[in-house]
Amino acid sequence: MSIVEFDEERAEIIFDLLTYFWRMARPFIKLPQDRMILPTNASPREIANYLYFLAIVQRGGVISDTPSDRIHELYAKRPDIFDPVEVVKLTREEIRAILNSEDDPKRPLAYKIDEFSEAWLKNAELLVAEFGANALNLVDAPDFLSAYDRVRGRLYGIRMKIFSLFVIWLQERELLSRFQTVPPPIDFHALRLLMSTGVVKTAGLEDSIPERIRLTKAAEEYPMLIDTLVGRPGIRVNERLTDAVAIGCMKLIEEFGYTHLDINPGMWTFSRNMCSKAKQNAVSRRHSLLLDPEVLRTEPGLWGKAKDPCEVCIMAEHCDRVFPSEPYYRLGLLVPIVRLNRSEGLRLIYYPREDLSVRFRSLVRFLTRNGNGKHAASKKEALTEQYSLFIDP
Ligand code: SF4
Repeated sequence: MSIVEFDEERAEIIFDLLTYFWRMARPFIKLPQDRMILPTNASPREIANYLYFLAIVQRGGVISDTPSDRIHELYAKRPDIFDPVEVVKLTREEIRAILNSEDDPKRPLAYKIDEFSEAWLKNAELLVAEFGANALNLVDAPDFLSAYDRVRGRLYGIRMKIFSLFVIWLQERELLSRFQTVPPPIDFHALRLLMSTGVVKTAGLEDSIPERIRLTKAAEEYPMLIDTLVGRPGIRVNERLTDAVAIGCMKLIEEFGYTHLDINPGMWTFSRNMCSKAKQNAVSRRHSLLLDPEVLRTEPGLWGKAKDPCEVCIMAEHCDRVFPSEPYYRLGLLVPIVRLNRSEGLRLIYYPREDLSVRFRSLVRFLTRNGNGKHAASKKEALTEQYSLFIDP
């Protein structure tokens, strides 16, 4: 039995909205894998091997743009280290030196350089020894789960989330047509969106955060955060949970006739662009404020002047709770906060609730092209200028 419960009716509504959102948002968004530079005459094997190595650096709390960009640059300079036959001729130290390039003072892979270089070598060895040095052979199976079962625990640093990502990239490039639905890679953003909107029910997953977290290393570094968290409900995120959510989502996406190729980037982009800017999820001076409704009611000035995406969110009526990112990234905990509507007294202009296409346009202002806080494209600015959000009642 799964450790996770889904609200199926809610899932159908949210998947529908996410599909709609992603199809509208796609032109404004550049995903990390979109920035890949491969020669136009690259063979399917070369592309698949490249994506296989790119997947290695997607580990961590989030699917990150910076490590991906580093891999794209590296390919331009050292295409040989994307060929497993060449990689197995190198030592781990040599791979480490290449990945942790001297020519980039920022060293974007330094934070996990030992793990990445180990994974680079070990996964190349597995490909050469058992899969004909071709990552496409990893997916030579009738469906996702059979392919994953063959390599589960044998790919270094690649578990279900990253394997899903790799498979999705192959599908996006039309290198894999056999698999139907794939479990969406469940990271913080996917979990946040599914839990905020009630698709994944959290009641059975929550526990009061115990005093003993004061004994963790994080407590020394983030004492204020720990003080705020002790005694609140929290959900410990582990692989059992993320795999159960991924499999459950896959089944529902299939059952309702949607595609993970919309739902997956839709969830990730929505949480990263919209939910992250919700006032109650906001981070100030590198700290989540964990603003409970009572605090905001007592001190309405805390809302500040910035527009809040929740005000125009196409999912707001289904979203009861927010999940700030800091407890997750520091402690692996999802901490729910009851969501407060900022402006029940304000009404939207131009946006009849039933007209999603018009309502969507009000969300565009919150999109960042990379979803990482970089400045908005001028096209977006021009579009959003046309639509002011609120009028007073
Ligand atoms: S209402 Fe706010 S927190 Fe909830 S899904 Fe929408 S943007 Fe995210």
